[in-house]
Amino acid sequence: MVYLHVPFCRSFCTYCDFYSEVACRERDAQLFESYTEAVCAEASRRRDEIEATRDLNTLYIGGGTPSVLPLSHLRQMAAAASLMTGGVPPEPPASLRSDASRQQLDGARALWRTERKLVFRQTCPENNFRPSAGPFTEFTIEVNPEDIVEKGVEYVRGLLELGVNRVSMGVQSLDDGILRWMNRRHDAAHARQAFEILRRAGVGNISVDLIFGLSQLSEATLSETVREILAWRPEHISAYQLSIEEGSALGRLVREGRYTEATQEQCAAQYRLLCDALRAAGYLHYEISNWALPGFEAIHNSAYWSRHPYVGLGPAAHSFDGKVRRWNKDSLSSFAGSTGESLSPAEIKEEQIMLGLRTAKGVPAELLEATKAAEMLADGRLARVADGRLRIPEDHWFVSDDIIAELI
Ligand code: SF4
Repeated sequence: MVYLHVPFCRSFCTYCDFYSEVACRERDAQLFESYTEAVCAEASRRRDEIEATRDLNTLYIGGGTPSVLPLSHLRQMAAAASLMTGGVPPEPPASLRSDASRQQLDGARALWRTERKLVFRQTCPENNFRPSAGPFTEFTIEVNPEDIVEKGVEYVRGLLELGVNRVSMGVQSLDDGILRWMNRRHDAAHARQAFEILRRAGVGNISVDLIFGLSQLSEATLSETVREILAWRPEHISAYQLSIEEGSALGRLVREGRYTEATQEQCAAQYRLLCDALRAAGYLHYEISNWALPGFEAIHNSAYWSRHPYVGLGPAAHSFDGKVRRWNKDSLSSFAGSTGESLSPAEIKEEQIMLGLRTAKGVPAELLEATKAAEMLADGRLARVADGRLRIPEDHWFVSDDIIAELI
């Protein structure tokens, strides 16, 4: 299970404080080249760690704007990660393939898929297996609408040839005024066009990201965005509440008194609107911020919430082996050599509870001390035990942080 961080953005969004460098294809070809080489070298160095996480063979390329990278660079990095995880290499471009090599490759792929299917069914029996053209059970790439519109259907087909079988697109809103305020580079028309291009190219698993919790976002505007997104019928929707990060442009606006945060009541009302509309449209609310059509829950993200080990490659990427969490440096020129922290048994348990209670599955009830759980469960509203698992009901997810803090 590999996360690969791409630290390039074409400009910075108002609310963002991720580690990223401003870069563009035309000007920074050399920078992209050396970054790609460094990530491939890191994958090679950390072969054993990657091997240790191969029971869930997923690749997630995210971070800044991975879709700014040329296909050739993405191909190299996917190959580095897949070879290390025991998969078969991504298919070479058609122009480089002979009939004999294609037959050999097809045979290897069929065998590989059968094996992965078995492993995956044992690990995640509740999810459907969704075949990938490449070596990964789930291979997600994050894209932004303007890149997809600019690069077109051929670029997306190229992604599918690499084995990508899930695309996560940062739409955030379909209101042009809100998108301008966020300093996004796309408008609503770009988002519509990009979604249509992804479908036309044959992407069968699309996740759309939205943001709520803005003080200037009216319920009518949010309703209109949600109504249109639901008409697109993406397989997955993530909706995150705007958070004010110290290091972001928004953090500065708040400090200077130039932006007033949304009230708790506004945020709760917007979250409720999302929950009601998505439930009515048949989406399963399987984690606080995530909804999916049945069978399209994100495998990679679900594994984070159940504390499955993963390896993070690239600047600022985090890794986790079940007990120790480590992170690479925030630097393009020297990101290798991670620092980390060991979790004590008490911290591991707290983390299991915190992450598990954010999901519809909840946590095994025995994880909580009987007395604390009993107090919280007294009237059965804040958390409930059923089938040996403790869960927070969906109508209390908006205040789940407070409930979890009480429980632990
Ligand atoms: S939100 Fe994404 S695209 Fe925007 S600046 Fe942050 S990493 Fe870049």
